[in-house]
Amino acid sequence: MTVDDTETREAGRDFIRDIVQADLDAGRHKTVVTRFPPEPNGYLHIGHAKSICLNFGIAEEFGGRCHLRFDDTNPTKEEQEYIDAIERDVRWLGFDWGKHLYHASDYFEQLYAWAEHLIKAGKAYVDDQSQEEMRINRGTLTEPGKNSPWRGRGVEENLDLFRRMRAGEFPNGARVLRARIDMAAGNINLRDPVLYRILHASHPRTGTAWCIYPSYDYAHGQSDAIEHITHSICTLEFEDHRPLYDWFLENLPVPSRPRQYEFARLNLTYTVLSKRVLTELVRGGHVSGWDDPRMPTLAGLRRRGVPPAALRDFVKRIGVAKANSVVDVGLFDFSVREVLNRTAERRMAVLRPLKVVVENYPEGQVEELEAANHPDDPSAGTRKIRFGRELYVERDDFMENAPKKFYRLTPGKEVRLRYAYFVTCREAVKNAAGEVVELRCTYDPATRGGNTPPDGRKVQATLHWVSAADAVPAEVRLYNPLFTRADPNAGNFAADLNPNSLEVLADCRVEPALAAENATEAVQFERQGYFCRDKDSQPDRPVFNRTVGLRDTWAKVSGGGKG
Ligand code: ATP
Ligand code: MG
Repeated sequence: MTVDDTETREAGRDFIRDIVQADLDAGRHKTVVTRFPPEPNGYLHIGHAKSICLNFGIAEEFGGRCHLRFDDTNPTKEEQEYIDAIERDVRWLGFDWGKHLYHASDYFEQLYAWAEHLIKAGKAYVDDQSQEEMRINRGTLTEPGKNSPWRGRGVEENLDLFRRMRAGEFPNGARVLRARIDMAAGNINLRDPVLYRILHASHPRTGTAWCIYPSYDYAHGQSDAIEHITHSICTLEFEDHRPLYDWFLENLPVPSRPRQYEFARLNLTYTVLSKRVLTELVRGGHVSGWDDPRMPTLAGLRRRGVPPAALRDFVKRIGVAKANSVVDVGLFDFSVREVLNRTAERRMAVLRPLKVVVENYPEGQVEELEAANHPDDPSAGTRKIRFGRELYVERDDFMENAPKKFYRLTPGKEVRLRYAYFVTCREAVKNAAGEVVELRCTYDPATRGGNTPPDGRKVQATLHWVSAADAVPAEVRLYNPLFTRADPNAGNFAADLNPNSLEVLADCRVEPALAAENATEAVQFERQGYFCRDKDSQPDRPVFNRTVGLRDTWAKVSGGGKG
C-alpha cells in the first residue's frame, strides 16, 4: 500500500511561511530558494527532519527550490560516510534536491579571495596570539575584550602572512585570520571573529589542496549568498550570529543578499539530539551503531520501521515556532501509529509462546483459513493461514486462577482464535516444577472462521495464535527509551542511560508469511504493536524490531472478530 501524502504535504501556516508569502506578494522575490545545510560530521536525526521538512517543504509549496549544501569546513570531523548517509536520509524522507547539490568547499577559492578583499580594505588581520590568549582577550558578556597586539598590522604584512598561511609555511594553530570589527562589541560574535585557521588536514573533497580552512561563520552566510538563497532558515542559536553574517554581506561584493530567519529547534523528551552525544553513544559502544533502532537518527528510525510519512506528519503537527520548547516523545509515537494503522498489513506472531493442543481436532488434519491483511482496507487482500491440532498462544493470555474480569484463557473459559474457531480451555498441563507448559483445549467446528455459532453464543476475547507445525521461530527486539530521564543530562549522559532499553525475546513464533517476506516495511503483529524485519535476519530465523507498541490493545480486540 502507498501512503496518501496529500494530507501530510499540505502547507501548514507558520511565521516563516507568512514571511515567504509576504515577500512573494510584494515582489521582493520571484523564486523562493532555501537550503538544508548539514555539516557532515554525523548522521541526521529527527531534529534535522524538522529543518529538512521546513526547507524542502517551503520550496515545494511555493514553487521554488531547495538546495542540499554540505557545510564542510572542518575536515577533522567530517567523513565521506556521513556525506553518503545524509544524502540517503534526505531522499528517504521524501525530498529531492535535483541538481542542486552544493558544498561550502566548492566555494573555498571564492571565500579565500573575499578574505584578501577584507584584508585589503583594512577589515581583516593576521593574529599570532595563541588560542588561549585569544580566549582570554575575548572578554565576557559583561566585560569588553582587549585588542590583540597584532590588530594594527599593515595591509601588506597581513596579505603576505595570509598568503604564506595558505602556502603551508606555518604549523597548525600558529596564526589565524580575523575580521577587524570591534573588540568591545556587546555581541561577542562581533569581537574580531576568526575567519581562517591553519589545519594541515586532508579534506574529503578538496584533498590536500588547502591547509587553511574557513570558519563556519565565515563560510555559511557567503555560501548562501553565492547560491542566491532567498530565505536562510536556521535554528535560534544562530540569532546572535546574524549581525556577523550581515557584516560579511555588507563588506563583501556578494552576488545576493539572503535574509536569515530563526526558528526553535526540536527537543524531545527522553531523547538527546546533540551530535556530540550521539557520536559518543556510537564510539563508546552504548549502541550498535548510528542505525541502532534506539537512536533518534533517521537511519535508526528507518531500521526500527518508522515510515518517512510518520516523520513528515509529526513535523507538521509540532509546527514551527520562535520559542524553544520540549516535545513529548509520545507525540512522535502517535504519528507513527497514525500512519502505520492505515498502512501496515496485519500478521500474527506469538512473542512468548505457550503450546495449545486442541483435543477434539483430528490428529494430522490441517486446514487453510482466510485472514484479512487489513481490517479497514479490503484492497489489502487476504492471505491463507493454517490451523491444526497444535498451536501456540501468548503465555500472558492464560491464567490458571483468573479473577472474574479475566476474559481470556483459563480452565472452563471459551475464547475466539482470530480467523479460526472458538476454543474452550479444559486443562493446564504442568511440568515437575509446577510451571504450565501446555493447555488442553477443545474447539467448536460450528465457529469456523471465528464466526458466531448458530446458537448465538458470544465470547469476550479474541486471541492471536500461530499453528505449531508451520510457525517459524524468530527473534523479536523490543525497544524502550534509551534514557531513563525525560531530560537526560547531555553533559553526563552515561548516568542516565536506560539499562533496559533493549529487550530480546529469543523464542518467538511467527506465521510463515512473515518469514517469507523480505520487505522491511512495518507490519502490525495483531494485539502487539508494529514490527519490521531487521537486517540481522537469517533465512531460517527472522529478526523483528518493534517499531512502536499498540496503545489500546484490549479495547480493540475484545469486541469480536474485527481487530
Ligand atoms: P552541530 O552541533 O554539529 O552544529 P547540528 O545538529 O546543528 O550540530 P548541522 O549539521 O549544523 O548540525 O545541522 C544542519 C541543520 O539542521 C542546521 O540548519 C540546524 O539548524 C538544523 N538542526 C539541527 N538540529 C536541529 C533540531 N534539533 N531541530 C531543528 N533543526 C535542527
Ligand atoms: Mg549546526
